[in-house]
Amino acid sequence: MAEDWVDLRSDTVTKPSTEMRRAMSEAEVGDDVYGEDPTVNQLEAAAALRLSKQAGLFVPSGTMANQVAILAHTERGDEMFIHQDSHAYYYEGGAASLWAGAMLTLLDGPEGLFSADELRRRVRPANIHHPHPRLVSLENTHNRAGGAAMAPDRVDPVMAAAHEMGLSVHVDGARLFNAAVALGVTADRLVRDADSVSICLSKGLGAPVGSVLVGSRTFIDRARMYRKWLGGGMRQAGVLAAAGLLALNNVDRLAEDHVRAERLLKSLQAMGYHAWGPSVPTNMVMIDTPGPAQALVDQASQFGVRIGTMGPQRIRLVTHLDVSDAGIDRTLNAFEAMKAQG
Ligand SMILES: *Cc1c(COP(=O)(O)O)cnc(C)c1O
Repeated sequence: MAEDWVDLRSDTVTKPSTEMRRAMSEAEVGDDVYGEDPTVNQLEAAAALRLSKQAGLFVPSGTMANQVAILAHTERGDEMFIHQDSHAYYYEGGAASLWAGAMLTLLDGPEGLFSADELRRRVRPANIHHPHPRLVSLENTHNRAGGAAMAPDRVDPVMAAAHEMGLSVHVDGARLFNAAVALGVTADRLVRDADSVSICLSKGLGAPVGSVLVGSRTFIDRARMYRKWLGGGMRQAGVLAAAGLLALNNVDRLAEDHVRAERLLKSLQAMGYHAWGPSVPTNMVMIDTPGPAQALVDQASQFGVRIGTMGPQRIRLVTHLDVSDAGIDRTLNAFEAMKAQG
């Protein structure tokens, strides 16, 4: 029954493949808190290599990856600059204030990114009255901007400005590989100048659990202590890391998700829906609704299609490896029928 749903709420809903489950059951494991899990060590090294950083740290979630990064970059009271629509501000329950005691300064700009000039304007000089400006956090792709992929010519100047002023840069790359695939560049190029990067294995890449934080060896050593403090030190975590290693093989196929999202977008627009995507789209389609978004969500569920809201009058459809062409057809049929129902 549940298997019949087309689930477009998020790319987090993917289930591990048979191959992944087999790799998990056969994973070589050890106690990762002692640094003795070979599969975790292999995953951390693979992620670091992939992003051209020195070291990696396996954590249970993207939220923990971001929060451990913020903790490791800052002291209590330090100022962190972040776009007001970013996940680490908008969707992490205020965790940066709870754990790191960071002061978040919110910036704005189109498609989830503020300009280098805006950052320069907002970072204040050293003065007893000001917090210590310490960290800039970017997000690529940008979730609330509709999965916007940000090219090097957009992010490089912001990272350069941060570094000029002595600030560190963290990139929330929960969907960094979607950005790389959409832009036709390598993921490591997108984060060339970043001091740390978090990636999610459990979204479009299809692992059941897990994220990796990467950065310099000294940074990751610090981050490991914070992971311990947050209770994120897992033991025979190789059973999870084994799935994560296979997930890294799913990068190229993200292009299929992007093609399906584009078909959704074009067809929904042709039906008269106010569907939109960012200038460099990835695996998401947003629809702005004239009435309450929840009404459309309820209506779609009657057709076996699950979608999510992104605001009182906005819904989001996300393609991923468990949504086939047939699933897109069914979704479009549902939206056509809904249009007819009014
Ligand atoms: C999903 C997501 C995260 C982390 O989510 P978890 O559910 O904690 O794994 C972080 N940043 C962005 C942009 C995300 O989309």
